[in-house]
Amino acid sequence: MSAAPLPSESPLYCDVSLPVPLEQAFTYRLPETLRHRVSVGCRVLVPFGSRQLTGVVLATHNQPPPGSTRDALRLLDEEPALDEALLKLGRWIANYYCAPLGETLRAMTPLAADVRRGRMYTLTTSGRDAARQLLLGASSGEDPAVEILRLLEARALSLSYLSKKIKGAASVLRSLDKKGFVVAEDVAAARDPLRASAARLRVEFRTRTEEKLPKVERELLAYLELHPGQHNVAVLEEAVAKASTAARSLARRELVLLSLEAVTSSFAPARAPHFLNPHQQEAFQAIQEGLTARQFRPFLLEGVTGSGKTEIYLNAIDAALAMERGALLLVPEIGLTPAVAGQFHHRFGDKVAILHSAFQDAERAQEWRRIRSGEALVVVATRSGVFAPVRNLGLIIVDEEHDQSYKQQDTPRYHGRDVAVVRARDAGAVIVMGSATPSLETRFNAERGKYTRLELPERIEKRPMPRVQLIDTRQEFLETRKSSTFSRALVEAVTERLENGEQSMLLLNRRGFSSFMTCRACGERLECANCSVTLTYHRRDRRMLCHYCNYAEAVPDRCPKCASDHIQFLGVGSERVEQELHIAFPRARVARLDRDTVNGKHDYETILTGFRERHFDILVGTQMIAKGHDIPNVTLVGIVNADVGLGLPDFRAAERTFQLLTQAAGRAGRGETPGIVLIQTGFPDHYAVQCAAAQDYGRFYAKEIEFRKLMHYPPFGALASVVVRSSNEEEGITRSATLGRLLSPAPEGVKVMGPAPAAVARVKTEYRFQILLKTSSRVRLNEVLGEIRRFAAAEKWSPTMLAIDVDPVTLL
Ligand code: ADP
Ligand code: ZN
Ligand code: ZN
Repeated sequence: MSAAPLPSESPLYCDVSLPVPLEQAFTYRLPETLRHRVSVGCRVLVPFGSRQLTGVVLATHNQPPPGSTRDALRLLDEEPALDEALLKLGRWIANYYCAPLGETLRAMTPLAADVRRGRMYTLTTSGRDAARQLLLGASSGEDPAVEILRLLEARALSLSYLSKKIKGAASVLRSLDKKGFVVAEDVAAARDPLRASAARLRVEFRTRTEEKLPKVERELLAYLELHPGQHNVAVLEEAVAKASTAARSLARRELVLLSLEAVTSSFAPARAPHFLNPHQQEAFQAIQEGLTARQFRPFLLEGVTGSGKTEIYLNAIDAALAMERGALLLVPEIGLTPAVAGQFHHRFGDKVAILHSAFQDAERAQEWRRIRSGEALVVVATRSGVFAPVRNLGLIIVDEEHDQSYKQQDTPRYHGRDVAVVRARDAGAVIVMGSATPSLETRFNAERGKYTRLELPERIEKRPMPRVQLIDTRQEFLETRKSSTFSRALVEAVTERLENGEQSMLLLNRRGFSSFMTCRACGERLECANCSVTLTYHRRDRRMLCHYCNYAEAVPDRCPKCASDHIQFLGVGSERVEQELHIAFPRARVARLDRDTVNGKHDYETILTGFRERHFDILVGTQMIAKGHDIPNVTLVGIVNADVGLGLPDFRAAERTFQLLTQAAGRAGRGETPGIVLIQTGFPDHYAVQCAAAQDYGRFYAKEIEFRKLMHYPPFGALASVVVRSSNEEEGITRSATLGRLLSPAPEGVKVMGPAPAAVARVKTEYRFQILLKTSSRVRLNEVLGEIRRFAAAEKWSPTMLAIDVDPVTLL
């Protein structure tokens, strides 16, 4: 990676893009100390109003801007955080998704929007002078101001550190700030590994000391000196008591080195390389040819569930590495488990870096540095990993390319897969988008010849696709006169599995116990105080919970409106399925996997591993259980209710349902014993259900694409959603109406729908009014959205009022 060449004379000014919802870059003067070091793509800390912000340098120059200029405060990167290619990609995203460049660039750097922040104090030049003079004159360290200046002389320090050392530090710092002696910087905290868990920490001896140390620290240091090399801190705990605490405080004194261990997983089933079967071989060859050509080549790898797509990815990465080119594998949020990471470590060793949004900042920053330095040439990452600074990028793989988690739901609302395509194009790289159920967009692009379609039509070793049976719940009700969660056929199938020692997975894509509470006397439904949705009953937590804003209430025993005690809980959720399983199969060992049982990556993996190792007979869960898992002993998949997503007012409802059912069904019979799938539904004739039952993507695509064409929905033309949000309903109505008038008559070539209250009209106390724009011309769409943004800016709307979503994946 090359830093942008420095102008021959060191520049006096730099233009900085800041994470604020404004379009322009801001010019700052470069103090002498920074002039030689700043280059395009570096992050700098600058004053902005009364705050300090981190921004990215877009240019350096010698043109004094009109008016007064403030000084840049600090340089955060010695080498550019974003190279030219990534800056270009950032500009593309900002333009295409109508997002401010500064916010886009922030989302692209490793310590992005969600960073914990801390206040750091540094001396200004005048502060430094003052410190010298004061220190010359001051005899004792009693004056806290002198003491603070003295401490800051040595290095920048955090507010929390200073507060611990000096009484009343905060107010002293404020007055020093007023005098211009210090600057407060809001910077990313925890860039060091000190906060990581012991299991992920390695410690190494660095130097001896004459200082007097507490006993544990002395012992640990002695131990490390006697045992050179790196030690896992958690393991050390067994040899040296309190090793973890001691290691951290020794690290603070810089007597030992701490580093983070890469994510590996001992329980990851090591996958020996396979000989590719003929279909795999054919697909791999096409990819390899693309790599050899060193040109942009986009592929859709369409392979049924269990057809061995991962093996092709691994081979393709090998091929890229053999050409000394880097590879980037993107996986859905939930797909990046330690087991998956482990597989890649097995195959590629230290060449792999893992980037996961659930990692702590420090871990992410460290992995990011390994990538930038070229130490890690293979990157496995979730969505934002599409910005990883992979050296000499030759290959990008987007696994499960249809997955919704690739779309970011906040500014910049980019689609990771689509950004990956643009990045591959600019880099002259190969991109492989893999799925058993490709998105309509991607398959359409393949039909049009924009992408090359590679097909894996059968499962590995010609294993049969699972046999699928539809169970009509209306018929079941007529015959049994009972509305039960499990049909007779499903009960029988589970029983059989339990007898044979085989495992079952039951999917219900709705968490909680009951989806709502209603009063039989007056019809009242208990709604969230902040959102226009019903509260979900969570039995274990004994509360009514909002799935949009987490608002919670106690479970009422009477109707809050009419005080009747005839209240009932309706709509079965996954928690209830688990409970009913305990009742129906008291001896079965049941586990549940949904957002209520999973609190981070570890729970998720623990539950899945437990299930893989057969500590459980049945796994119940939401869509989390449908994704990618390869558990050979699962021979039954039951869909408790296929209709959950079908009725949603969203043009992708059918596509979602088809994908979910097909992916879930694909978990059955992946081992040597064939599997069956039972789908309970009230709409057995719906084409999404029918095609999923037949595992027939081709038929689904043909049907769905007709509907999209008829309705001018993507992939035909482009779609954008514009939402006006306000906590004041009146204001929301007026402002969205103003936008409606601005767009009336509809701009040429654009179809405007709305404004109308959004499908969920109120979320987190904000009223939402939606306008949909459809057009066959992307250029036109971009122009119109630009107009809307300029209008809102001119009218001084608060930036959060307007939410623009280009290519939305959901209209809810
Ligand atoms: P997919 O991602 O297409 O659903 P996987 O890549 O998970 O499928 O492969 C399914 C199973 O088949 C895995 O257990 C994998 O190890 C195995 N497999 C893949 N390729 C081969 C091969 N050529 N020969 C034998 N087994 C293979
Ligand atoms: Zn009532
Ligand atoms: Zn709510």
